Amino acid sequence: MILEEHEGSKAVKTHQPCPDCGSSDALSIYDDGHTYCFSCEEVTRDQEMDNVVEYVPKDTGPDKPWSERRISPAVVEYYDVTASDMAVVFPYHNQDGLAVAKKIRHKGKQFSTDGDFKNCTLFGTHTLNKTIGQKSKTIIVTEGEADALAAFQMANLIPSSATSIMKRSQAVTSALSIKSGQASAARDFKNNLELLETFDRVFICLTTNLGHRRQRNSAPSCSGRARRSS
Ligand SMILES: [Zn+2]
Repeated sequence: MILEEHEGSKAVKTHQPCPDCGSSDALSIYDDGHTYCFSCEEVTRDQEMDNVVEYVPKDTGPDKPWSERRISPAVVEYYDVTASDMAVVFPYHNQDGLAVAKKIRHKGKQFSTDGDFKNCTLFGTHTLNKTIGQKSKTIIVTEGEADALAAFQMANLIPSSATSIMKRSQAVTSALSIKSGQASAARDFKNNLELLETFDRVFICLTTNLGHRRQRNSAPSCSGRARRSS
């Protein structure tokens, strides 16, 4: 079912991911800027149209099995992820650092969430409290959970065969992911601004637009904007 109209305005985008319940396609964006999710029925009104124009649905490429992403068992463990080719479970945490929700990626690229997803922080914030070395003043934010793991692995030069992460002598660069795709990225950043502002540099790695989109491989392109947060 697609709600073409809601509160008298017309849908300009349908089948968008919902940042509140984690549905991969239940959100519609209307021409007055408000959004409505017909799964959790949440209405938001602070959507800036600028942010949705270039929205590209995530994961339009083939369904890539986890084993082909070449993410090391060490990094999977570091993020407390449970991964197999059938399903990958990404834990989500609240402001207090408690694991209160999960996003599950099923074979065939179906996503579901479980628990209090709405009140969770960006994916991966729990890793900021792990002590494997001094923290870098740079942080990476990707568009998907798997990309955050890949970015962390690359940025910290962890081999894809690593089974554990030793104490690092170099500063550790953390990698997080937004929760539900670019349509709600602005909101994710706003809700996590206080955290992001503790870093000198925030590298934002979002998927570029469809025309220039490259085949996704295990590593995110990281060609997104870099900005100084202060
Ligand atoms: Zn929803």
